[in-house]
Amino acid sequence: MNHGEIIESHHRLREQLDLAAYASYAAELTDKALQEDESGSFLFEQFHASLTGLEEGKDAQIISHLYEMRILEAAGYAPELDFCVNCGNEQGPMRLSPYAGGALCPRCTGQDPHAIKVGEGAFKLLRLFRRMDLRRLGAIQVKPETKQELKKAMRALMDAHLGIPLKSRSFLDQLDKYNI
Ligand SMILES: [Zn+2]
Repeated sequence: MNHGEIIESHHRLREQLDLAAYASYAAELTDKALQEDESGSFLFEQFHASLTGLEEGKDAQIISHLYEMRILEAAGYAPELDFCVNCGNEQGPMRLSPYAGGALCPRCTGQDPHAIKVGEGAFKLLRLFRRMDLRRLGAIQVKPETKQELKKAMRALMDAHLGIPLKSRSFLDQLDKYNI
């Protein structure tokens, strides 16, 4: 048995580890983003809602992306996803450019050669995440491929704007590696 198989064979522990890892990631983000004495703020409420959602067994990855979006907003880096940030065009397929500040339309992708290809389904969800209050998240079914795209997109946004090495995220990555 390799490490992965051993952890895989302990499902309950594995589930709890996952939840703890996501909760600790949310806590670490909150810690970086909140100024002192903001315990009554919108962001703090969203953090609270993240933990409640995890406890209720809602999709942990989706919760963490929603919360990452709140953190980006709080830090002043909310991406513009409804139209092209360069020309205002609303016609896709859009690419995501963290450095340009959001969506780039087909005419403008040249502005950022590193702009990320995001499928239409994932893009719709990103737009939804921008608007959705975490307290209102219900059960949501997202295809694994779409989740992979969401992860890539959110990670690029977080890395471009916050650029903080997060201990809890490395732990999540480690767990992910054993999840195959
Ligand atoms: Zn454009």
